[in-house]
Formats: sequence, structure tokens, C-alpha cells
Amino acid sequence: MFRSGCLRMTSRLSRLSVANCVSTSIPKKDTHFKSSAKENGIFYNLNKVFTPRTCYTSRVKVNCWKCKRLLDREPAFFCSSCEAVQPPEEETSFFTIMDCDYTFTVDTHKLQTRYLQLQRSLHPDNFSQRSAKEQEYSESQSALVNKAYRTLLKPLSRGLYMLELEGMRLEEGTDSGADPNFLMELMEINEAVDEAQTPEEATKIGRDTKVKLAGLTDQIDAALHEGDLHAAKALLVQMKYFANIEEKVKEKLSDFM
Ligand SMILES: [Zn+2]
Repeated sequence: MFRSGCLRMTSRLSRLSVANCVSTSIPKKDTHFKSSAKENGIFYNLNKVFTPRTCYTSRVKVNCWKCKRLLDREPAFFCSSCEAVQPPEEETSFFTIMDCDYTFTVDTHKLQTRYLQLQRSLHPDNFSQRSAKEQEYSESQSALVNKAYRTLLKPLSRGLYMLELEGMRLEEGTDSGADPNFLMELMEINEAVDEAQTPEEATKIGRDTKVKLAGLTDQIDAALHEGDLHAAKALLVQMKYFANIEEKVKEKLSDFM
């Protein structure tokens, strides 16, 4: 009974092309551990499987490629002795790059300020008189900063990234794992968007979706603080669906214009 209901719904869902549905996988224990929580002085209460190992908490000492002096900051965009721009440290957490606390409720104002400041200092124009190597490093640093900023700016990508740091990944492609009642609710909302006859109707759905997303943001933050990664993951799956609805509402509204 349950199963057939679920299957019926699944086929309706795929017909509606709702869903970037999501399945989950847990990569090998040693793949995704990086720095960040500890360095930023904030600890998530990780459950036992994902307890960070001590080996990654202390950073390997890095020397300036040009003057060979020890780099004293992490990440070091520039050498404080010779001012040469340094190659990006790909393993550095985006939170560390953006100098933000390792938390789901990241300070987006601070994030934005840091982004603008870094992009100013890494701008290619600043390096037109420098060596080809430094020009190349400034470009790759700038690309990395862009990626870090974009990932941390939106709650969905930020949450997914945090799960990844904790060793969990969400993958697109199947809707296994999503709660049937939730999928039913989603389907109804999607149909309501499709059938909305006026901008007001679509706007109302958009408003409700924002409220849902705000609620999910709080719940995800709480789950991460409690170290309940599985709950956080399930909530992020829901967030993903609601983010899709938000996009769909925007498209619908632009159709009315
Ligand atoms: Zn140097």
C-alpha cells in the first residue's frame, strides 16, 4: 500500500520535473576532513563517526615561493616579507578563506565585506607589472575566493558544503530517502504554482516558501549544533526542494510580466 502510493507519487513527481531529487552517500572516512571548525574557535558537536582527527587541525608550515620565508597567516594570499602573491592553498576551508566563523548562520555582511576586500587586493590590474607567475597566482586566488564566496552566500550551498566538510555528501539523481508525506506536500505546491492564474497567487506561494526556507534554516542550524548530521542532511534535502519552488515562482512571475 505504502509502496505503491510512493511509486505513484514518484512518477507524478518526475512528470512534473520538480525535483532535483537527492540521494545520499557517505564517502570514505578520510576523504573530506579539513580544518576550519577548530581554527575558528567554534565547535560543532560532531557525532562519533565524524569526529575530526587531530592530524588535520595543525596546518603544514608553508614558505613563500619567492623569498622562502615562513608564511605567518592562513590562508596567506601574500607574503608579509616580500609581498609576493602566493599560490592558493586548495585544502583551506572556505570559512577560513572568507574569515568567517564556522557556522551555518554565517554573517553574510561580513562575508560580503571580506569578499570585496579580497577581490580588490587580488585584482589582476594590481599585478600587471609583476611576473607571469604572480599574475597566474592572483587569478587562481581570485577564482578560489569567488568560489568560496558563492558557496557560503546561499544557505543551501553553505549547508551542503558543511556536510561535505563533515564527510557527508548529497548527490542528485534519485529521490530515495525523501519522506513520502513531504513529497506529496511538495507536489501540491508545485501544482499550485503551475495553476496560479494571477501574480498575486504566485506571490503568495513565494511568500509561504520564504517562510518555509527561514524555518528550515533555523532547524538546520540547530541540527548542526547538536551534531545530528543525518537530520541536517534530511532538512537540506527539503531546503533544496523549496529552493526549486522559489525559482519556479520567480519564473512564473516573469511569465506574468
Ligand atoms: Zn616572500
